[in-house]
Amino acid sequence: MAETKKIVATTCPFCGVGCRLDLHLMGNQISHVTTPYDDIVSRGNLCVKGRYGWDYIYHHDRILTPLIRRQAQQPGTRKPARRDDWREASWDEALEVVATRFADTVEKYGPDATAVFCCAKATNEDNFALQKMFRAVIGTNNIDHCTRLCHAGSVVALQMAVGSSAMSNSGSDIYNCDVAIVTGSNTAESHPIIALQFKDAVMRHGVKLIIVDPRRVEMVNFAALWLQQRPGTDVPLFSAMANVIIQENLCDNQFIYSRTENFEAFAKAVEEFTPEMAERISGVPAEKIIQAARLYATAQNGAIYWSLGIPEHTHGTENAFALIHLALLTGHIGRAGTGLNPLRGQNNVQGASDAGAMPWDYPGYQSVLDPAVVAKFRAKWGNAPPPARGLTTTEIADAWGAGTVKAQYVMGENPLMSEPNLRHAHHAIEQLEFLVCQDLFINETARYADVFLPSASWAEKEGTYTNTDRRVQRVRQAFEPQGQARADWKIVCEIATRLERKLGRAQTAFWEYAHPSEILREMGELVPSYAGITYERLEQERLQWPVPNLQSPGTPFLFENTFPRGRAKFFPLVYQPSVEQPDASYPFALTTGRVLYHWHGGTLTRHSNLDFAAPEAFVEINPADAPRVPCANDSPVRVSSRRGSIVLRARVTEKAAPGVVFVPFHYAEAAANTLTIDAVDPQAKIPEYKICAVKIEPATLKELVAALPLGLEQQR
Ligand code: SF4
Repeated sequence: MAETKKIVATTCPFCGVGCRLDLHLMGNQISHVTTPYDDIVSRGNLCVKGRYGWDYIYHHDRILTPLIRRQAQQPGTRKPARRDDWREASWDEALEVVATRFADTVEKYGPDATAVFCCAKATNEDNFALQKMFRAVIGTNNIDHCTRLCHAGSVVALQMAVGSSAMSNSGSDIYNCDVAIVTGSNTAESHPIIALQFKDAVMRHGVKLIIVDPRRVEMVNFAALWLQQRPGTDVPLFSAMANVIIQENLCDNQFIYSRTENFEAFAKAVEEFTPEMAERISGVPAEKIIQAARLYATAQNGAIYWSLGIPEHTHGTENAFALIHLALLTGHIGRAGTGLNPLRGQNNVQGASDAGAMPWDYPGYQSVLDPAVVAKFRAKWGNAPPPARGLTTTEIADAWGAGTVKAQYVMGENPLMSEPNLRHAHHAIEQLEFLVCQDLFINETARYADVFLPSASWAEKEGTYTNTDRRVQRVRQAFEPQGQARADWKIVCEIATRLERKLGRAQTAFWEYAHPSEILREMGELVPSYAGITYERLEQERLQWPVPNLQSPGTPFLFENTFPRGRAKFFPLVYQPSVEQPDASYPFALTTGRVLYHWHGGTLTRHSNLDFAAPEAFVEINPADAPRVPCANDSPVRVSSRRGSIVLRARVTEKAAPGVVFVPFHYAEAAANTLTIDAVDPQAKIPEYKICAVKIEPATLKELVAALPLGLEQQR
């Protein structure tokens, strides 16, 4: 009998653009993927990941049965497992072990001896349920996820300056502006479909792009102006643009007067940031800085888009402030085609943050320090932690090492690829008393776990993601989970129920959801900006929050009449150099990032056929620097920092600025974070991924091959 054909409309599981994917099915098999031309996000286009990268669902390495380590792991001697170190278990046994070990930890050491990494790839509902379990049942705010490692600096600065941390406008709003600053963003590889729209806006609609980036990224080919700054010099560069705007009276004085505060103190502080001073620090000619300031300030509608090149610094919060100031000076905010737009990385990093996967905020960015907020959630759930901030991801990793966090839950994340200074993180995780990982594959972190819980892929479950535009979109189940895999929210609810019983907190919070739509409904009752979002409405609409009630059509752009904090605030800045600068011993500045074919720690895309297109790590080095190593294109080299070394191939290219090298962070066998420094921004706690000092030496092919088994192969 011929297999049934059907099409299921869902949302891409990779990046924050959030393209619609139509899965064409033959039975339980996806045959191919398309997207409609009238889709508001994709506009008929998909990048290689959305079009072809989903085949990891069927990979033979996927884990489809709960696993328990045969041998108990002791703190200090915990070791990564090989396949034979695991035994298959029933769901009942695995869930009981997890609930028992967490309950024992809480009773012996208190709730703050536990912590959880939620997941920017999982749905809003998965994340809401998981943070609820840790707050309402366990009683801790030690809840974080990879937003800490990407846009935390943007989030803190935007919250302080305007009172809301999401993108104010949309990716496709580029068509409504006439000038856009795009900075710290390799848009063509990290947000490819937004990049297509940027290119189209330039080529067919006359939009002018000001690209500010140390690398010669693809979008430079479409730029009216390219400002190639040295890494870590964004504050003087953007503050000099502010200086020019004030000196040449290009400000929107009415906007500053009526909608902002602290302008005088800011204007005084910015006087020292002359274009000449910025040129000395950043290497960008003063004349170009002046041109960029004039171009942006005199636009009818000017927008700013940025990505991780801005926040991933020890002064990432200040970098974001420097961009925010430009919009406040010129009034380029609160209208279509303007705004402050931090492009969010993962498919649901916006939604996971909205859903409360944060140590400082309940769902909806409601502060854990506000007694009224705590009382509100306690009334709904029956229990909530006392008003105190929990630990961030980097603090949690430090707490493993210090022995203060003893039991760790990881849903879908891979801290042993994403944390900075990985040697330190590996040592720290060995100190845990209990580790549970919930994922599709045994990644670098899960190899240290005591229990592995197999979760359903995005094609096997229902839910919602919130994309970088604040647009809440449906994830639809195309077929039943393979093997014994279960949806993340279902696993969490099972553990929460058992934990409640063990901790004597039975029948407080509600866990018997029949469908994730009920979880979203509960989130809407607690989060005002989600109050009007229901699954029924999402069948017809793709709403952008805030959606304060069922009648609201959503909000395509923010801040039209006011800011959430009332007046937006300027913050006087001082320039602080990056923590680690190149020197005689480590003469190159290292910066890290993505390539088009892979996603984050590679757990998914390295189990996809995309790995054939980009199978190997590389270090980009400028042709003028290659003789200093010495190396040729494709030759093996060793890149070392004060924290560790990796061996990979050299890619000699003008894309790298002289003195600056680039390594993608997807490859376990040459993990870029072996090299990065674990210094963090004091306000946002985000690590300095975008600059540290390295040296490069020739290596042999034998050394390159020897590095490979440390990656995927060793798991088999
Ligand atoms: Fe998926 Fe992002 Fe590519 Fe769109 S641009 S198909 S959301 S990875």
